Amino acid sequence: MQTDSLVTLDRDHLIHPVVNYRTHEQRGVAVLEEGRGAYLRDSNGHELLDAFSGLWCVNTGYGQESIVRAAEEQMRRLPYATGYFHFGSEPAIRLAAKLVELAPASLQRVYFTLGGSDAVDSAIRFIVNYWNALGKSGKKHFITLERGYHGSSSQGAGLTALPVFHRNFDLPLPNQHRIPSPYPYRNPLGSDPAAIIDASVAALRAKVQELGADRVAAFFCEPVQGSGGVIVPPKGWLKAMQDCCRELGVLFVVDEVITGFGRTGPMFACKAEGVTPDLMTVAKGLTAGYAPMGAVLMSEAVYQGIAEGGADSPIGHGHTYSAHPVSAAVALEVLRLYEEGGLLQNGIDQAPRFEEGLRALLNHPLVGDARSRGLLGALELVADKEAKTRFDPALKLADRIFETAYRNGIILRAFADNVLGFAPALCYTGQDFDLLFERLECTLNAVLDQPEVRRALG
Ligand code: PLP
Repeated sequence: MQTDSLVTLDRDHLIHPVVNYRTHEQRGVAVLEEGRGAYLRDSNGHELLDAFSGLWCVNTGYGQESIVRAAEEQMRRLPYATGYFHFGSEPAIRLAAKLVELAPASLQRVYFTLGGSDAVDSAIRFIVNYWNALGKSGKKHFITLERGYHGSSSQGAGLTALPVFHRNFDLPLPNQHRIPSPYPYRNPLGSDPAAIIDASVAALRAKVQELGADRVAAFFCEPVQGSGGVIVPPKGWLKAMQDCCRELGVLFVVDEVITGFGRTGPMFACKAEGVTPDLMTVAKGLTAGYAPMGAVLMSEAVYQGIAEGGADSPIGHGHTYSAHPVSAAVALEVLRLYEEGGLLQNGIDQAPRFEEGLRALLNHPLVGDARSRGLLGALELVADKEAKTRFDPALKLADRIFETAYRNGIILRAFADNVLGFAPALCYTGQDFDLLFERLECTLNAVLDQPEVRRALG
């Protein structure tokens, strides 16, 4: 089909996630047609280096034939098996056991979802059920971080602390609360790791005291805040937050939807920091985007609490496509590629090259901060490096960068407050990184040459 007619059909019928509908109607859709390794081709034949792995999910890169084969074989043998009525399928059972083997030792039980939002939503429902089952039915309040992202479900979008997810949606709910983000670049206390950690622990403690420990159900956080602008807390921060939750009797939930599966280096960011959460949510890299799937993992204690509270009736939480056998077969092959196929190791080996490339751009007049962990990174653009002043939103700098980058053959993520996000696939080679940074520098220079941008610089 011609690109023009696709653009028309898209404009008339398809609602896109998280766009301004009026802007989308004017811009039209960019149709992606094909992918190989780290590269994509759009319907105009334009080749693009994908520096964002789709939506931080295609960690294996595109065109991995063994994943296609795994899906095809499973689809032919058994395309669907319900988990209801005590049925199940081999790939889903093996995948649950494999995830437990890979996850922090505290996590023993797995409930499969279709993605990250329903993993978070399921976690919320399980937590409410757990506290009620234990007779602690006052524990109904949830605490998250400012700039946190926990998906787009009716309740999860309220745990998300980004204004566009709340505006006109009557969120956050009265039982959803936030504490400041541990944002080293913009932390009023400076970037000293110990000070940042102490401040977050103090803020959590104060919030729990304000609400009453007997009313707080859980604290949710990402090991690195992704959609909030790739905010990398100091090492030790996650463990300190966990310890604080344990002391206060609050469940500690780690959302590894982005950070899981090698994105920050190890299989799970929290496990590498010695953290043992009560619940953990995953998605994205679990199937590397080849099929939809997410999961919530929980401790034996949480599982047993819910089970005991169930008395003789079923626990009323389910999805038709929970533990979908095709997605599970895909995930098993993706996990094999991370481990035996060497992708996890390649991600670890390439991370210094990625970090170095980002840091080198600190010399660029537009770049105020460069930060990364593993293959998850960002550049923060500022109008004045000394004062860290943000650009006037009216300049629409993020849109300018995104469009110029696209023309120059890179897909990156340009966040509204001029943070450029990067999540290259774990299959990137040194040459891919050379090309990325060459194109990125050209992009930043081209945007800097625009008179309105030059005038905006401090
Ligand atoms: N949690 C985190 C940390 C995420 O980054 C995302 C998505 O980006 C979600 C949850 C929601 O996942 P999904 O978009 O698969 O529903």
